[in-house]
Amino acid sequence: MKIRKQQVSIVIPIYNEEGVVGQIYAQIRAVVDSLPHQFKFYYVDDGSDDNTVKEVEALAKKDRRIVLLKLSRNFGHQAALTAGLDIADGEVIISMDGDGQHPPEMIPQMVELVQSGYDIVQTQRMDDVQPFSFKKWTSSLFYKIINKISGTHIMPGAADYRALSRVALNALKSMPEYHRFLRGMVAWLGFSTIILPYQPVDRISGVSKYSISKMINLAINAVFSFSLVPLYIGLSVGGVFLLLAFLEMIYVLSFWVTGNTSTMAPGWSSLMFVLLIIGGTLMVLLGFIGIYVGLIFQEAKRRPVYIIRDEKNGK
Ligand code: UDP
Ligand code: MG
Repeated sequence: MKIRKQQVSIVIPIYNEEGVVGQIYAQIRAVVDSLPHQFKFYYVDDGSDDNTVKEVEALAKKDRRIVLLKLSRNFGHQAALTAGLDIADGEVIISMDGDGQHPPEMIPQMVELVQSGYDIVQTQRMDDVQPFSFKKWTSSLFYKIINKISGTHIMPGAADYRALSRVALNALKSMPEYHRFLRGMVAWLGFSTIILPYQPVDRISGVSKYSISKMINLAINAVFSFSLVPLYIGLSVGGVFLLLAFLEMIYVLSFWVTGNTSTMAPGWSSLMFVLLIIGGTLMVLLGFIGIYVGLIFQEAKRRPVYIIRDEKNGK
């Protein structure tokens, strides 16, 4: 093994995690203190409006290795994580949630695997033991769909708990997109990857900060930034309708050719049916195109993914 005293950065985005940060910090310390590496902790406060910042500041007073990055408002988990990854300066960079759901006991193994040559150590949440839950069900449905329609394979249960080598992180940092789905982006990168399964732990306290709307947002970012399939759906459905119209034309013409026009029923209901189907399909497809145009518009503005209000360095 080359450098034993490698620097390891741990990036933790936090949003309203008061009462939790101290415990997680203690858990992480209990694991990393016996390791020979130099650790640095990057807490990214994603615009919390409770005591989270104060609690991290109190920790930072005692531990000079803690860096606290405060964003100017709540930008969302993926943006906060990006902010932390952008400033982390270690040779091995680990990202994990600040709510205790990512078991810190895996850190030594993750660091070792990066040192042994893997550029990406990706953890995978094993949900099978848990009883049915809405989150688990929507998550597995989501991965089924995204893997059907996108060219990048994104592993089901992939968590934003992973270790990256410096090379892999630099590659990730070269992807400036505004709509970020880091799990997909990391999978897209390539590099030698190893997967570590883990059993999810319950949150220490507090509630999930992923509201339904945040989950939908993440799913839309993932689907539309990793796939053009929705546009192809539009194209093929449009094609089917054109074909149907063509067939209908032949059918109607056949009445004229055979001189049977008087037997043509005044088919109001079938006409309405066809109109509604075509109208509805057009709307849906326009919606797909609208989403792509909207996303392109937002990317084209080249806005930063996050804005830093303040950086407190333990040094
Ligand atoms: N988080 C964040 N900004 C947000 C939402 C969440 O920084 O807008 C943080 C949160 O504090 C936690 C991590 O991202 O450390 C994962 O969030 P959460 O535990 O709520 O997600 P879940 O585990 O329910 O998917
Ligand atoms: Mg969580």
